[in-house]
Amino acid sequence: MLNKENSIKYEAVIGLEVHAQLNTKSKLFSGDANAFGATPNTHVSAITLGHPGTLPRMNKMAIEQAIKMGLVCGSTIAKFNYFARKNYFYPDLPKGYQISQHTTPICVGGIVKIRTAIGEKEVQLTRIHLEEDAGKSIHDQHDTMTLLDYNRAGVPLIEIVTEPVMHTADEAAAYLTEIRKLVRWIGVCYGNMEEGSLRCDANVSVRLHGETKLGTRVEVKNLNSIKHLKHAVELEIERLSSLLETGERIIQETRSYDADNGTTFSIRSKEDAEDYRYFPEPDLAPFEFDDLFIETIRKSLPELPEKLYKLYQEQDGLSAYDALQLTEERRLSDLFQRVASTTPYKKQLANFLIGPVRSYLSEHSKTWTDVAITNENWHQLLELVAEGKIGFSLAVQKLLNPMLIDKAIDPVVLANELNLIQNADNQEIQNWINQVIHSMPDKAEEYRKGKKGLIGLFVGEVKKISKGKANPQKTTELLQLTLNNKN
Ligand code: ADP
Ligand code: MG
Repeated sequence: MLNKENSIKYEAVIGLEVHAQLNTKSKLFSGDANAFGATPNTHVSAITLGHPGTLPRMNKMAIEQAIKMGLVCGSTIAKFNYFARKNYFYPDLPKGYQISQHTTPICVGGIVKIRTAIGEKEVQLTRIHLEEDAGKSIHDQHDTMTLLDYNRAGVPLIEIVTEPVMHTADEAAAYLTEIRKLVRWIGVCYGNMEEGSLRCDANVSVRLHGETKLGTRVEVKNLNSIKHLKHAVELEIERLSSLLETGERIIQETRSYDADNGTTFSIRSKEDAEDYRYFPEPDLAPFEFDDLFIETIRKSLPELPEKLYKLYQEQDGLSAYDALQLTEERRLSDLFQRVASTTPYKKQLANFLIGPVRSYLSEHSKTWTDVAITNENWHQLLELVAEGKIGFSLAVQKLLNPMLIDKAIDPVVLANELNLIQNADNQEIQNWINQVIHSMPDKAEEYRKGKKGLIGLFVGEVKKISKGKANPQKTTELLQLTLNNKN
């Protein structure tokens, strides 16, 4: 994508800000439901609407979820916290200010490990802070008016901010993918970018390779898919490098990504620092918690994907690729663990899950928890394949697919019913071979004289009289032995 000469001459620097809507029942400072997709303006008490005299009340679950994310990233958890008012006017911000954490984020520092085609890397975090979401302005449902939905106003968010340490669009995309995986894994956010429960702003600057000072950054707002993030970063790196190359000045600005046209455009210059007149929120008392509170939350965390990624390789003998695939989603990983604990055929299990089961689920819009096959039936199916009694693709087509639909199906019974089990019994195959050779003495003679291509004919005949039960590989081996021995 990037012009080759420029990509050698210039280095891009990227820092990401990710907003994740927390998965709480109620909003950050009120009892209104935190419910995506509800009829507009149905979860809007006087607190959400910012009526005079109303008072915010802290949601403990939101604090716990923010701390969970911080613990997962190895951040330092701040025990003393207070909120600040960020004052600005916007139609979807009915109070006229947003309650946020300004200089005292609940989580400080930390790292997120990412993997790209060129290897592993640790992305340093600056902070994770708590804040409330604004309402939603809807511009496309009326010709001349903007509609407002305050259901989202006051929904708890964490903002996860990285240091300016990424250098390619691939790294940015890998980081966002990892954040989405982690928030889903620990259950603090749905991570649905289309619905806006996870949103990303990308800060991009470009400088000469070897330069240590940061270049002037632009910020592309509200990217709502990983694909869009990647493309927007690529576009900005290209655009900023060209500007530097032609000696033009880069101005600090906020831009927007236009997915339909595949471009970015300026929405406002950011040269004058915005003055939000931050001050400590007077309606909310500062709050402090102790180590025990943090440790209790730490204990409630599930096993993390990074740990399982190693375990699946070391303990179950899987490849790094398989282990990575299995730890992409918690429910998949849980399913793998449940079945793997009752069968020795873990590699076969990984093959089934990552390949055909995953395709089946996405084709039928189902999730991993919809897979109802019992451990015992899994074991039987895996054993048939592991012992070479039935080939993988035939097992998928004839056994797995029906089993996914009807969990009562026993794979061994079905395989027998369908006469799928290849007979590996050498003696039986040998009898068929003898019959075939006996019935075609002249062909056997020709084979012995050097017409080795005839082997296919014999294999075909054995297949016919065994009604497909003879394993073709075994048949070929035994045929060769038999024909050559008579020489
Ligand atoms: P703001 O609220 O003004 O956007 P933040 O501190 O919240 O500021 O976020 C700034 C983000 O921009 C961080 O992710 C940071 O790493 C990144 N950033 C800052 N300076 C640069 C730069 N010169 N180039 C690229 N990214 C930058
Ligand atoms: Mg920003």
